[in-house]
Amino acid sequence: MSILLDGKAVAALRERELSEHVAAIKAGNGGQIPILATILVGDDPSSATYVSMKGSACRRVGMDSIAIKLPSSATTDDVLSAIDRLNTDQAVHGILLQHPVPAHVNERLCFDRISLAKDVDGVTSHGFGLMALGEPAFGSATPVGIMRLLAHYKIDVSGKRAVVVGRSSILGKPMAFMLSNANATVTLCHSKTSNLEAEIRHAEIIVGAVGKPHFIRSDWISDGAVVVDAGNHPGGIGDIHPDGLMGRCAAVTPVPGGVGPMTISTLIAQTVSAADRACAVID
Ligand code: NAP
Repeated sequence: MSILLDGKAVAALRERELSEHVAAIKAGNGGQIPILATILVGDDPSSATYVSMKGSACRRVGMDSIAIKLPSSATTDDVLSAIDRLNTDQAVHGILLQHPVPAHVNERLCFDRISLAKDVDGVTSHGFGLMALGEPAFGSATPVGIMRLLAHYKIDVSGKRAVVVGRSSILGKPMAFMLSNANATVTLCHSKTSNLEAEIRHAEIIVGAVGKPHFIRSDWISDGAVVVDAGNHPGGIGDIHPDGLMGRCAAVTPVPGGVGPMTISTLIAQTVSAADRACAVID
């Protein structure tokens, strides 16, 4: 029997709690509600969809969102100026710069301009460093969402061999630190890993974060493993081939409906926490 790691259902439960939390913030702060500001640079349709889904999630829990759209010709300075304005706007509690930005924009510089208190997507170097050291910080939303999904289903990662495939700064690397901080023994794989299949074969927990449809073959994955697929390609295709996994693995995320909803719910939860702290400071 495999557990279906139903991110959609877990995120919906969390949204109910967050709605109550937002209502309490509103009642206790003269009608002020948490606000997430999103910045979308360019016209990539998938990015536009993700930003719009995040705005809709804000509305579902009674929060507000501000959507800033910059043309694909926007420069690094244009993005930095937009971030500067949001950093100083006291009504804004969280800032999300949608990844990826066009190649000519220095994404790292822009991420690092976001004030730590408003870094609800966990993308700044400062926030990453704190998270890696096990200090309080908003973690990168997708790996935090994955950790929450595992915790919801009481999957203990301590002492387990975890293999993360992909080492991006927003997903694979923070995922590896979060699993290690939770006492898993982690192997972080990437495009230069010499024998990926062998690494995956000994994994008790496998996280696919490669960005290539069905790249990880299901027959590389051992019976009884916990399988988390962060990929979400058109047509509901993940990074891991799902053939035969349900039934022989301990737990499996569906695609879609696994990791994606948890990312959004984490972003919203972290914005609510940021608003909580901002209101406490103002009090
Ligand atoms: P990314 O920045 O493109 O990183 C991909 C990683 O995969 C890189 O570290 C790369 O290694 C590695 N890789 C590429 N080819 C490989 C190979 N042949 N063998 C082993 N590793 C290989 O991607 P990302 O932004 O982390 O996203 C990864 C996936 O997660 C995508 O499918 C994306 O759509 C999905 N995602 C989902 C959510 C969500 O909320 N559901 C959020 C973010 C991302 P190198 O470092 O060596 O180049």
